[in-house]
Amino acid sequence: MNDFDIMQPNLNLIEIDNNEELIKEFIKDMILAPSLSAHKWSKITNQTPNLKIGYPGQHLASLITGMKGSATGARGNDIIDGSEVKSCSKIDQSDKCNNCKTTVLRTTIKCPNCGSTDIKRNNDSKWLIPVRSEDELRMLKEETPRFIFLVTDYPKFEENNYNDIRIRAFEIWVKSERCKNFIVMMESYYRNIFLKHIERNPNKTPAPKNLFPDNYPFYMCNPIKTFECIITNAMKDYEINIIKYIQPNANRYNIESEIMPFNLLSINEYNLLKSKIPNFNNKTLLNEKIRNYLSLRDTDKQIKIIGNKKHKN
Ligand SMILES: [Zn+2]
Repeated sequence: MNDFDIMQPNLNLIEIDNNEELIKEFIKDMILAPSLSAHKWSKITNQTPNLKIGYPGQHLASLITGMKGSATGARGNDIIDGSEVKSCSKIDQSDKCNNCKTTVLRTTIKCPNCGSTDIKRNNDSKWLIPVRSEDELRMLKEETPRFIFLVTDYPKFEENNYNDIRIRAFEIWVKSERCKNFIVMMESYYRNIFLKHIERNPNKTPAPKNLFPDNYPFYMCNPIKTFECIITNAMKDYEINIIKYIQPNANRYNIESEIMPFNLLSINEYNLLKSKIPNFNNKTLLNEKIRNYLSLRDTDKQIKIIGNKKHKN
């Protein structure tokens, strides 16, 4: 099969329509309303208002792709065509006081313990992809048509604006030539990290593969953005604006993948591109074509286990 056929969602399995309306309604019911309640109670209990969005993420993925789940929960496919859904949320992560190391809520301006306003705001949520056996690796490679990555974050995090929320969805079509780095990365995680850890300590389950939104390895898998919405003023008179939505039935083959931000390039990668591409400069868009000159970094291919030495004797 060529990429054109590979990247065509299975039309027979698309059953949900009126998607944009449903998505807005869902965000209202399942993300904004619970979040408002959580914040109300958090003020009283001083417990985290962080709501895990794992399952809401799967609902959202169904509404975006127009395909239902298989409803059985843990086993079974997240989406009826076999797609896997990974969610991560940067909303309401707990923060830390730089002065006394107390955990501080996102909405709290001063540390409740020492009064310091020097708060480390965490913004490092990631997707977790476990591969724990040859069979799981085989299923990932052969039976999963796409991974759907959802991320909820603050688009104006740098400005300390925690009122506007952004939700984005990306697709990686596992078997396509365009997304081939994804399999390379997962296979190397399994062989070079997972199995090596098991070899050293059979009783401990190694951490799953981490994939960070907006980082170099993720861009190198050529993710295609299928959905983006901005919720302004999420804690009050919110407004939900869908600014990008690829229809469920659309073939993904001709859709551009995300442009990589320039500041993710290392010096070596910059120099490599400069040597290959005429007129290359820091205004050049790092699109899929240009990224073809780049490779996954060593850290994504073969991570050496640090501390091997002590096991030699
Ligand atoms: Zn403090």
